[in-house]
Amino acid sequence: MSFDEMDVDTIWMDGEFLDWDDAQIHVLTHGLHYGTGIFEGARCYETERGPAIFRWEEHLDRLYESAKPYEMEIDHGHEELTEATVELVRRQDLASCYIRPIAFYGYRSLGVSPGDCPTRIAIAAWPWGTYLGEEALEEGIDVMVSSWRKHSSSQIPTNAKTTGLYVNSLLAGEEARRNGYAEAIVLNKEGQVAEGPGENIFLVRDGELFTPGLSQSILDGITRDTVIQLARDLGYTVHDQATISRGELNTADELFFTGSAAEVTPIRRVDNVTIGDGERGPVTEEIQSRFFEVVERRTDEYEEWFTYV
Ligand code: PMP
Repeated sequence: MSFDEMDVDTIWMDGEFLDWDDAQIHVLTHGLHYGTGIFEGARCYETERGPAIFRWEEHLDRLYESAKPYEMEIDHGHEELTEATVELVRRQDLASCYIRPIAFYGYRSLGVSPGDCPTRIAIAAWPWGTYLGEEALEEGIDVMVSSWRKHSSSQIPTNAKTTGLYVNSLLAGEEARRNGYAEAIVLNKEGQVAEGPGENIFLVRDGELFTPGLSQSILDGITRDTVIQLARDLGYTVHDQATISRGELNTADELFFTGSAAEVTPIRRVDNVTIGDGERGPVTEEIQSRFFEVVERRTDEYEEWFTYV
């Protein structure tokens, strides 16, 4: 759905609430030319106690951490950004939504060195349904291993959620869709499984879970961390620093993606090789239904993960 079709009217920018159409920047903005922005994507779920932002604190922590390698100073604190976000959801009367904070080097000069370019910051929130399609959560998706490799963390810090990095995600994702797949799996420079263009990946084998470790050039996903905790609390063994080869994808019992946008999405085929029985497997289903039970607050557990609007 495009923004034109949505009932949204407000964006918070540099300390102020603006009309949606007034949240503009100059065409010579540093971040536009060199990808020098850092951002977040969080979800706010509809619950009986009203809209609840899932793991907002962790998203904010990651936003400040992403700014560090670029020496970007964000002079709006945790509390201010939280208040702005809560107010943004409230003002637009959103029962559930996706929340996108972004900070970037702004307009002043255009050397690659940002020099004295100001840091700009904005937060938007809008309704956003299932990322990979309505059926994806139940039936799973078909994915291809991309011919594009993920940049190594020795080239660009992959644990920072930097706007410029997402040209790699675009190339991998579009290649997959051009070939009739819903999404890509991206290998790292060493040829091991890293992640999806906007998702982390989990493999199930003999009842245990495996997910690539942080040294595999991945983003330290908040849904990844959530699934690790939920799975362990359900009694599963989770190997969270795994190295997964391409071949192991084919012989997995189950595979699934995790992400704030993708939530917990089963993978039923990789490059036309059927995974397990070619449908959402029992471990994926148990973890996925636990995930939705938690985020929709159908349980009192994990209360510390929620910021109520
Ligand atoms: N990897 C990449 C490259 C991503 O863009 C995302 C989405 N933020 C993820 C993994 C999943 O991270 P999270 O669960 O924090 O959304």
